[in-house]
Amino acid sequence: MPDGYRILFLAGGAMHQFAMVPANLATPGGTVAYADSGYWAQRAMAEAARQHQVCVVARHEGTQALAAPPLQGWQLPPGSAYCHITPNETVEGIAYPGLPDVGDVPLVADCTSSCLTAPLPIARFGLVYAGAQKNLGIAGLAVVVIQEALLARSSASLASVASYRLQAQAASCVNTPPVAALLVTAMVLDWIDAQGGLPAMAEANQRKAATLYCAIDASQGFFCAPVALGHRSLVNVRFCCANAALDTVFATEAEAAGLHHLRGHPRIGGLRASLYNAMPQAGVDALVDFMAHFQRRYG
Ligand code: PMP
Repeated sequence: MPDGYRILFLAGGAMHQFAMVPANLATPGGTVAYADSGYWAQRAMAEAARQHQVCVVARHEGTQALAAPPLQGWQLPPGSAYCHITPNETVEGIAYPGLPDVGDVPLVADCTSSCLTAPLPIARFGLVYAGAQKNLGIAGLAVVVIQEALLARSSASLASVASYRLQAQAASCVNTPPVAALLVTAMVLDWIDAQGGLPAMAEANQRKAATLYCAIDASQGFFCAPVALGHRSLVNVRFCCANAALDTVFATEAEAAGLHHLRGHPRIGGLRASLYNAMPQAGVDALVDFMAHFQRRYG
């Protein structure tokens, strides 16, 4: 953490921040910029659009493999209160290969599925937020890292629990914080430290993702990863078999073999393996073994 930032521990989840970010950083009716990278970016935008003018500054176009929006050419409308990105799209399994240059406009990021999976250059952001339940602990808590200078933007008319400025002044205790979720997060942070910190997390996550993507790419088309190289998420690995029926057989047989939650998000189907920090390499190795076994029987 560089100087000049505050960490808030707030009740609720990432979707609370979909509402709190525009409410605190923009004036009602003001303009906010969003990059449309997929499902969660769109939900964040929809929440902001309740009270603000949302301008979509980037999206992936074209019929080629799925990818994050291009990082160049973002035209931010004058007076944009901030620019919002979703560095890792949990549902589509898409990750940006870098960060956009948004000039003086504060960059805001929903890091719910990627926080603490690798080092993050906080100084590039005005605000970063994450729901705790993927890499930080259990549901009920959201972590917000905010540049101190932005705290002055929280209007006095906001509800006190929903004001970043008042929560920062009260050390996140305007009301009773979600103490059990905080305790779990403290334990997870100790565990991450004991593993060697974020560089060690990044190395482990790269190894896990490489194991799985290599198995998919080496399957001679039996399994396919639809996301473009360079844009593939390290923690949400999307893949599929030749058809939806076989995907269902795969997920059902995997479940019976003790490999759970491999069905894709209902919106897009297919298969998805989420390899958050808590997933050990042995879990990925077991999945890859199962995939080889499955291909021998159905290939
Ligand atoms: N953003 C992203 C990127 C997510 O993955 C999720 C949850 N899957 C959310 C927001 C919503 O989080 P919550 O349920 O904590 O509101």
